[in-house]
Amino acid sequence: MYEVTNQPPPLEPYNLWRTDRVLREALVREKAGWAADELNALGKALGEAETIRLGFAANAHPPVLHAFDRYGHRIDEVEFHPAWHALLTLAVGAGLHCSPWAAPGAGAHVARAAGTFMLAQIESGVYCPIAMTYGAVPALRQAPATAAEWLPRICTRQYDPRFRPATEKTGVLLGMAMTENQGGSDLRTNTTQAEFRGSDGPRHLFRLTGQKWFMSAPMCDAFLVLAQAKGGLSCFLVPRWTRDGERNGIHLLRLKDKLGNRSNASSEVEFAGAEGELIGEEGRGIPTIIEMSNYARLDCAIGSAGLMRQAVAQAIHHASYRVAFQKKLIDQRLMTNVLADLALESEAATALIMRLARAYDEGDEAALIWRRVMTPAAKFWICKRAPLLVAEAMEVLGGSGYVEECVMPRLYREAPVNSIWEGAGNIMCLDVLRALERMAGAAELLLGELSDAAHAEKRVQAVVTRLQRKLSARDWKDESQARAIGRDLVLGMQAALLLAQAPPAVADAFCDSRLGAESDGTFGALPAAVQCRAIVERAAPIPQ
Ligand SMILES: Cc1cc2nc3c(=O)[nH]c(=O)nc-3n(C[C@H](O)[C@H](O)[C@H](O)COP(=O)(O)OP(=O)(O)OC[C@H]3O[C@@H](n4cnc5c(N)ncnc54)[C@H](O)[C@@H]3O)c2cc1C
Repeated sequence: MYEVTNQPPPLEPYNLWRTDRVLREALVREKAGWAADELNALGKALGEAETIRLGFAANAHPPVLHAFDRYGHRIDEVEFHPAWHALLTLAVGAGLHCSPWAAPGAGAHVARAAGTFMLAQIESGVYCPIAMTYGAVPALRQAPATAAEWLPRICTRQYDPRFRPATEKTGVLLGMAMTENQGGSDLRTNTTQAEFRGSDGPRHLFRLTGQKWFMSAPMCDAFLVLAQAKGGLSCFLVPRWTRDGERNGIHLLRLKDKLGNRSNASSEVEFAGAEGELIGEEGRGIPTIIEMSNYARLDCAIGSAGLMRQAVAQAIHHASYRVAFQKKLIDQRLMTNVLADLALESEAATALIMRLARAYDEGDEAALIWRRVMTPAAKFWICKRAPLLVAEAMEVLGGSGYVEECVMPRLYREAPVNSIWEGAGNIMCLDVLRALERMAGAAELLLGELSDAAHAEKRVQAVVTRLQRKLSARDWKDESQARAIGRDLVLGMQAALLLAQAPPAVADAFCDSRLGAESDGTFGALPAAVQCRAIVERAAPIPQ
């Protein structure tokens, strides 16, 4: 009879928290050690075989749009597979959509970042409404009366999937709609119109008419929407149900057939006189909704770092069992080099997103600069590196990594989207330049941090010198250099973080391979002196 040999056991069940030393260390370092017990429970729940299967099921059974009922009435409902709801129940139950707002305090954003980092590894589709709800809160607060009504329902840990007016629900989720067919990056081209209908105390009510080319998670309870009012482009909260308890004029036209992120629905939508409330000042729509986008960009970086961690965990796990040429793959020197290099990339991404999340917990000048400059920089670089890393990690599994029973194809399909939505790579890098130009002292502060690291490690000095040259008055406005600046800022900062925190073997190898003259982005080309084995052991998904 056919005997199956030389195949690894599946990486399940396993506790995503207990098997991730880098994440655990970062949590303590970034001042959220108090959250370890809750994250341990979440890591265990996410790594149960049943939860892992939910991730597969939610993607194998994508959402279905029911624009009309059987009689021809518009209903604009999207039906999701039960696995989607089960995963959202878990994520909302862990407070990943709201915890820093429901229980603010030192380390609150860091703790949440650790949780969403783990969620992204098991299923990224549900991360979308979780991230949008989290990001919507600071924008919503710009309309205090509206916020007072919505926040109590956002800040619960009960997922309520019923399609009912928000007033009847125990918990709500929020989405956003900015992108229109003719332009997503250049939001000033938005044509959706908002007509003033009257005020109810401090609340200003409008009717919205127009189209949006992308509106994800359309079964959310309300959306932050950009539309043109008399005073200019403005931000509105548009709920699925009107204040009178009728279905609002939000017509879902079709769902996108997407490369990845398939468990999640992304709709094209028409606002047919939809009721909305003004959020923030009329004419200040972009600054208002950008509040939301910043948090969502942080989440893109966290999500991509999570995808990388999952890919590395799967690759090391596989290589620990699979034998070729009489040796385990993990013991083949060239494979150890590849695995170590992947682990370096993943550790650097994890360290950066956790440090960045701390900037959202703090309110001093350095924190504001980190948020404003390093958020788009980190989103650019980490989201760009993820598809490359996932492809390489997939190859570690050989042919088994290419088939749909394995999580790798899902990670691979998922990886590019974080780089596109919430502002694509170029837009992020141009935003880095804009922030550096507009925020007095930002360049000096960040270069100062890098220079401190350069005292300890001269390879960082090369990055500092390059950045100083590019940020000099002469090059300041040269947009063609924006990616180079974004990359150098991130690589320099990742090196600085690893030098301060990681074992010398990790920091050293990172500086050698990312800052050195030979670095060209190829994984598995670490210099011979690098302690690859120690780096791989540190990243192995086994309880440590
Ligand atoms: C799966 C998915 C879900 C989405 N969900 C939502 C959602 O829920 N809500 C929402 O509002 N949007 C959503 N989007 C839309 C997304 O945010 C936009 O696609 C994105 O912002 C880019 O806009 P665009 O597609 O119009 O591309 P464009 O704006 O046409 O940009 C195309 C390319 O040109 C580059 N570019 C643009 N301007 C410049 C410049 N000045 N210099 C150099 N390069 C430039 C960009 O970086 C990009 O690479 C979603 C997209 C996807 C793929």
